[in-house]
Amino acid sequence: MTQITKCINGKTKIFGLLGNPVEHTQSPFIHQLFYEATEFNGTYNPFFVPVGQLEQAILGMRGLSLSGLNVTIPYKVDVMEYLDLVDPIAQAIGAVNTIVPVHGKLMGYNTDWIGLKMACDYYDIPIKGQECVIIGAGGAARGAVAMCLEGQATSVTIINRTREKAERIKNDLQKMDMDIPIYVGGLEDFHLVKPNSVAIQTTSVGMHPHEDASPIFNEEFFQKVDFIVDIIYNPKETVFMTKGREHQAKVLNGLSMLFFQALKAFEYWTDITLTASQIEWCLHQLETTVYNNTKN
Ligand code: NAP
Repeated sequence: MTQITKCINGKTKIFGLLGNPVEHTQSPFIHQLFYEATEFNGTYNPFFVPVGQLEQAILGMRGLSLSGLNVTIPYKVDVMEYLDLVDPIAQAIGAVNTIVPVHGKLMGYNTDWIGLKMACDYYDIPIKGQECVIIGAGGAARGAVAMCLEGQATSVTIINRTREKAERIKNDLQKMDMDIPIYVGGLEDFHLVKPNSVAIQTTSVGMHPHEDASPIFNEEFFQKVDFIVDIIYNPKETVFMTKGREHQAKVLNGLSMLFFQALKAFEYWTDITLTASQIEWCLHQLETTVYNNTKN
């Protein structure tokens, strides 16, 4: 008989993800890597929350003294009203993806923007002093704009198919009061893109199974871009990234952002900081697992 080396016991901390759907999440695996790397006694579970049951789910978190929860689509906005306090940047972004219990109160944070910043730092994509252009104006774009403002970019330009949504982000995130200009335009307003820009692609265009698609094909755009972050991670390299690479841009896909947003949540919940070699080990395990399981 095989021996059980690790099992849930009375001291196991319980974490999880609230969403609908939750079947395809990578988060349990990523958090399991953190538990392995740090020998932390934890478990991370996807919780399917039926429509209309979000408030009950948060009451459940309180009643069961869960140690922390992530929140995903479609609840990142609505969850804010059931928390005791929301971090000011999460408030400006308008979305919470991480709930941290502190002395009986539930605090809401957004680790998507921090994860993006940590990924850029880890892979030497500069933000400070750079002209940044965000493609898209959905939930992910809000985090990307906040990241550029917090990271002290020189300017942030948001281009999106629906220009009004880019305007709305500008209005909301200007409240962060960072004194950094924000410009907005349509998806083809390439004249707004400054030379040597850092481009952050936040739309779902180009994601599996539509690998041939890209929000932008125009050469003028790619000539002006030195760095590309595409927050899609399946496929491993999107057409948008390939076109950037062909124009000598340094490129990064979205897997590291996913990884680091989880790492930041783990840090909030446990006060444990992983060492550089633990981070390297976890990232390697994640990349190997994700890309050996996809066609890339
Ligand atoms: P969202 O709120 O639905 O926003 C989607 C954005 O994509 C909008 O700006 C939309 O433009 C644009 N778009 C959609 N279809 C388009 C098309 N055919 N042509 C041009 N623009 C199009 O979604 P989201 O929450 O921001 O998520 C976007 C992507 O980010 C998803 O693929 C998600 O999986 C990924 N993501 C990755 C991470 C990570 O950790 N790597 C984290 C969060 C999200 P309109 O405004 O004109 O509709």
